[in-house]
Amino acid sequence: MIHDNILDTIGDTPLIRLHRISAHVPPTMLAKVERFNPGASIKDRAAKALLEDMERNGRLSPGGTVVEGSSGNMGVGLAMACAQRGYRCIVVIPDKMSRERTKMIRAFGGEVIITRTDVPPDHPESFLETARRITREIPGAVMADQFCNQANPECHYRTTAEELWRGTGGRLDAFVMGMGTGGTMSGVSRFLKERDPAIRIIGAEPEGSIIKHFFDTGREGEAWVYAVEGIGEDFIPETLHMDHVDLMHYVSDAESFYWARRICREEGMLVGGSSGTILAAGLRVAKDMREDQTMVVVFPDSGERYLSKFYDEDWMKEQGFVWEPGEEERRAVGLSD
Ligand code: PMP
Repeated sequence: MIHDNILDTIGDTPLIRLHRISAHVPPTMLAKVERFNPGASIKDRAAKALLEDMERNGRLSPGGTVVEGSSGNMGVGLAMACAQRGYRCIVVIPDKMSRERTKMIRAFGGEVIITRTDVPPDHPESFLETARRITREIPGAVMADQFCNQANPECHYRTTAEELWRGTGGRLDAFVMGMGTGGTMSGVSRFLKERDPAIRIIGAEPEGSIIKHFFDTGREGEAWVYAVEGIGEDFIPETLHMDHVDLMHYVSDAESFYWARRICREEGMLVGGSSGTILAAGLRVAKDMREDQTMVVVFPDSGERYLSKFYDEDWMKEQGFVWEPGEEERRAVGLSD
């Protein structure tokens, strides 16, 4: 089959059965492996949708400039899409994000501006405030606005969720994802609950993010900087709709990296850190499910982006992330049974 351009290959990623990593829990575990997208993450879907939305409503015309604040993967997706469509692309990215991603954005011809991670979202030096300022300063520039533009969750309703439904023949009992903009979670959870309200929707949340606390209590609570990239926030994005989410689980950085590395070694899938967070949350729920049930977890991006981070032994030791499950964690994910 011949595709007209690279953006036409976004989506239709494989659903892959997990084996050794989930051998100790009863249900069938399937992973939606998003590194098969051309920019190697789930954010390619939203990048294409946002660009098409800006083109459709006339905000973006040939030769225009696209600005975005991104934890990195949206930046890669947008830089790729802008390269193909012929737009200038400026990505503002917090300094905790991996160097690999910055290099990828530049490889696509994108411009990268690095800002501080350790400032609140309304601080003038935060990545979103900086992106807004740059958009105002450049004549005709538009901000893709992944945290506000509803084309983001909408594209996951149309594509990611539909693919999951088709791929499982509608036979799934639980779905697990982490939330960055919440686009994936919002779009997929709405689709699945409309088809079958019995499907359990589980959010995976890094310790340090405020989303779970807000979900549980209605209050924002305190945020702190954590090492897992791409999920969790210090504010509640307009694209995050939690009405169809049933529960959320906290997962620490150390546990997220532990599981991501095991996914790589035991399933042969080179995944990013948020995949570890999502699997850890999934296992906590899966241990109480039945053998005739199915859980789908999302693996949002590729481990190639973190070779100098949690796939590097020295980095892991320096950061103090050497971790093995203790008795409590073993019970939580079903390992002791
Ligand atoms: N995992 C990774 C690695 C990501 O980069 C992102 C996007 N920031 C997500 C998960 C979450 O996706 P979404 O923005 O759709 O919530």
